[in-house]
Amino acid sequence: MRICVDYTRCTGHGICETIAPSVFEVGDDEVVHLVDEDPPDDLRPDIQDAIDECPTQALSFGD
Ligand code: SF4
Repeated sequence: MRICVDYTRCTGHGICETIAPSVFEVGDDEVVHLVDEDPPDDLRPDIQDAIDECPTQALSFGD
């Protein structure tokens, strides 16, 4: 599965990292980075939660 990040929206809250740390990581630049560019399907529920909880709607599924 692919994840899209709108870097113009991400403000580095890190909520996504808290929910799915094996997928999302906020770097020293205070912007999210994808730890896993193509995560396994069993992480889909956690990724969906991260998408839903992101306060700036910066995340979406790309597939
Ligand atoms: S929750 Fe949203 S705004 Fe916060 S770091 Fe993740 S993608 Fe960026």
